[in-house]
Amino acid sequence: MDCTKLFRVKPGENIDLDDIDADFKPEGLSRDEAEAEFANLTEKLRDLQHLMYAEDSRSLLIVLQGRDAAGKDGTIRHVFGPMNPQGCRVTSFKVPSKIESAHDFLWRCHIAAPKRGMVRIFNRSHYEDVLVVRVHDLVPKTVWSKRYDHINAFERLLADNGTMILKFYLHIDREEQLERFKKRMDNPKKNWKISDADYSERPYWDAYTKAFEDAISNCSTDDAPWFVIPGNHKWFRNLAIADIVVEAMEGLKMRYPKPSVDMDEIRRMYHEADEAG
Ligand code: AMP
Ligand code: MG
Repeated sequence: MDCTKLFRVKPGENIDLDDIDADFKPEGLSRDEAEAEFANLTEKLRDLQHLMYAEDSRSLLIVLQGRDAAGKDGTIRHVFGPMNPQGCRVTSFKVPSKIESAHDFLWRCHIAAPKRGMVRIFNRSHYEDVLVVRVHDLVPKTVWSKRYDHINAFERLLADNGTMILKFYLHIDREEQLERFKKRMDNPKKNWKISDADYSERPYWDAYTKAFEDAISNCSTDDAPWFVIPGNHKWFRNLAIADIVVEAMEGLKMRYPKPSVDMDEIRRMYHEADEAG
């Protein structure tokens, strides 16, 4: 199954989220098979991340967006958890702090962008500034409507500097969100995750749909594609994201750097040391 092809939003494509099945899973694929395949993919991801770190030339930025309880935290834990923390960082974007809101909206994202060799995951991102900000009129339309162009230019700048950008919209439906809220309520270890916003945002469901659709349609580019991932089944969501990231990283054709030393000379010295005891 080619998840890259299935879920990638083509540049200029207008998407209608209500038409996309959040419950999708491939026919004939059992959860057990998917989990075995997922384990293979996380092994590959680990190797690719090691290679990216060693090569120290390119970087990877993963953007995760979705409604409350869409699975952003779970995706980070399951898909990216196996990566080596030395080469991978997560930045979670909250309501802007005083200093953040004293700058332009991209400032806090730009300083969090990955340096060479690194993987960076954005748990929410600069897209909040055309999502929550738009839905709640936190700035006038004349301000947020210009931001799509700024975002595209920003992402092109990162891409031109060697950063591969992959953006995932985790697509769940209304019923699934309510189901997950209930689980948070029933599980004492998850109670802390509940916020007033979870419920107060639900009446804005359709406004968010429109905001997500515009963000995805306006900002899915060759440099920084959006993927709409069916998210009701967590195991399928994890598999699809891992599959897409592996394919994209393999496409970079990264190479381990040549050793900085003369390996024949090093072997000779080793041999001498070994013989001398
Ligand atoms: P969580 O990701 O569940 O910890 O929640 C973070 C909260 O911060 C969410 O309610 C976001 O909508 C909010 N948030 C993130 N970025 C912005 C922003 N630029 N402006 C306003 N609210 C934001
Ligand atoms: Mg959350």
